[in-house]
Amino acid sequence: MKRKKIVAGNWKMNMTHDESINLIKELKEISSNYVDIKIAPSFTNLNKAVSLLGSSGIEVIAQNVHFEERGAFTGEISIEMLTSVGVNSVIIGHSERRKYFNENEFILSKKTKMAIDNSVNIIFCVGEELSEREKGDHFELIKNQIISGLFGLDIEQIKNVVVAYEPVWAIGTGKTAENYQIQEMHEYIRKLFNDKYGSDISQQIRILYGGSVKPKNAEEIFSLKDVDGGLIGGASLNFSDFNAIVQAANG
Ligand code: PEP
Repeated sequence: MKRKKIVAGNWKMNMTHDESINLIKELKEISSNYVDIKIAPSFTNLNKAVSLLGSSGIEVIAQNVHFEERGAFTGEISIEMLTSVGVNSVIIGHSERRKYFNENEFILSKKTKMAIDNSVNIIFCVGEELSEREKGDHFELIKNQIISGLFGLDIEQIKNVVVAYEPVWAIGTGKTAENYQIQEMHEYIRKLFNDKYGSDISQQIRILYGGSVKPKNAEEIFSLKDVDGGLIGGASLNFSDFNAIVQAANG
């Protein structure tokens, strides 16, 4: 089955308001009928990004969301705040959230439920640390992350989920996983979905790779059988790199 590729830029804690506007104006020129393009600016730039991108076809997504609906949670952003500015997708479970903000499986499953209950799509990130891979625990670990984060969803709900496999040791390090490591993990993840939800879902669900994707390696990575595009950090912060990566997914 042919799955439409996704190239999603995760801007992390980068870009002032003016810098965001400049990059978004450039991004508007990217044309691609064959790739779903998404960008995840910081919260302070979401509203403006949505209004600037309008009907360009580039979707604005959030980097995070709180798991409660509203209330006394100083500094947090609710799902309703996102949807009220036209944001209908969110990244959940990024390894930086897991590592620096102690987001565990319990918290992440509450976040996925909050998003799905509000018809917000999810990019759910999973990935192992280098020490876990070296011990040979990586498949088991990814399986547990997926089961606890996503497998509480029913067959209709899971259709609103994209998975991003991001080995932690490859994020922001310039060290990309080997092609065989990427393909075997994507195939493994697809099989987990097959076993839980059946073959239609497993063939439909899009699984992105993330971890130092750059213009020079994007085409090769995106050509792997079970890779449906990428979640891009560093290289999403400038137009020419991000555009080149989108064009690599076009191929
Ligand atoms: C990411 O933040 O999800 C990521 C993959 O970052 P980078 O591309 O910089 O490794």
